[in-house]
Amino acid sequence: MPALSISEVTFCSVCGHTTVARVPSGDNRLRDCCDHCGAVHYINPRPVVGTIPVWGDQVLLCKRAIEPRLGKWTLPAGFMEINETTGDGALRETLEEAGARVKLGPLFSMIDVPHVQQVHIFFRAELLDTHFAIGTESLEVRLFDQREIPWDEIAFRTVSTTLDLYFADRARGEFGVYTRAISAAPADRAVSP
Ligand SMILES: [Zn+2]
Repeated sequence: MPALSISEVTFCSVCGHTTVARVPSGDNRLRDCCDHCGAVHYINPRPVVGTIPVWGDQVLLCKRAIEPRLGKWTLPAGFMEINETTGDGALRETLEEAGARVKLGPLFSMIDVPHVQQVHIFFRAELLDTHFAIGTESLEVRLFDQREIPWDEIAFRTVSTTLDLYFADRARGEFGVYTRAISAAPADRAVSP
């Protein structure tokens, strides 16, 4: 019988024995523990970093070529890698997903998504040129005027929230920095903050 686990981790990455979920001494949460070698396997949230690439009045979006939300539109963003800053990661994802070179601007939104153990971080960014291209994770990459944004086809609520905030700020001519939290809700349901 497989050992109980609080995550998909059921085998110790140190020694290969099965792990068990229990509260380690001195801790207050269930962890995946290895009783063979004593390792405790901590699972922590993962940052997703991306940009709002702008060219004049238009915003660059990518149509996803991969699950989840294949065929839906998103801002370029992805999981932060080790040994990079949030800004470096946002630039890398923008280049990988949209082939787009941008000048990174200020932090714009930081949105907690605790039910999937993520936090999504978006920076404002200015495209340096329009020679963007489809990356391996995108079916299509294009610029949208505000009125063309496919709101019903946006892949993630963090993206629709960020776009909502961005266009509201642009309309009033002043940009802020926003923190929001999104809770579990029916998939694909776009909500405003
Ligand atoms: Zn072990």
